[in-house]
Amino acid sequence: MERVTGIVLAAGAGKRMHSEVHKQYMLLAGKPLLCYALETFAASEVDDIVLVTGKDEIAYCREEIIGRYGIAKVRAVVEGGKERYHSVYAGLLAAEGADYVLIHDGARPFVTAEMIRRSLETARECGACVVGMPVKDTIRVVGEDGFARETPDRNTLWQMQTPQTFSYSLIREAYRTILDRGNVNVTDDAMMLAQATGKRAKIIEGSYRNLKITTPEDLLIAEAYIRS
Ligand code: C5P
Repeated sequence: MERVTGIVLAAGAGKRMHSEVHKQYMLLAGKPLLCYALETFAASEVDDIVLVTGKDEIAYCREEIIGRYGIAKVRAVVEGGKERYHSVYAGLLAAEGADYVLIHDGARPFVTAEMIRRSLETARECGACVVGMPVKDTIRVVGEDGFARETPDRNTLWQMQTPQTFSYSLIREAYRTILDRGNVNVTDDAMMLAQATGKRAKIIEGSYRNLKITTPEDLLIAEAYIRS
């Protein structure tokens, strides 16, 4: 029997939100932000969920999020680390026994069951799948002197989202290889895989709504999405 685990990330300080409350617990239409992704994963075809959070927030998550909102399928709540990749690795260790894992930012409330289904389908075919969307703006590389350098062709540029979905053994091995090497310079899971093995992830369309709540304006946009 195939086993699929969702790893939902909710550690880290979220400093760009400039808020006392960690952003993953801020209320979005009256409910903690983190609940949205957890509820979607629980209602999807994943078999179980590993929630990664800060050491001091494990009890809060168990009681005030999972308990209070009745989130099903949570197999473990584990402590994350300083950087996102530390948290992912903690989640991967706790997902032992899975065949496929979907790594998802808890700060992205608008993931859908359909996105999860298509991601899994593609990961079964290719081993690695990431949802993303074509960028709408022109992206320019800016030098340290503040002057524009190159302008990559916009037709080739996509912004990466989550879930990022992998064969479990493939991504766990990639993380171990890169973490053992030290000097990690990656910002997402597909980059980790590419640096460790040269293997490329297939990119499929997510949605422009699948935004990551990072700064206060993102919360306003998210509230508007919910109202609509
Ligand atoms: O900080 P950023 O918005 O890029 O974080 C993306 C996701 O990764 C968030 O859901 C955050 O909770 C998680 N994260 C984590 N551990 C860290 C940093 C970020 O789980 N050390």
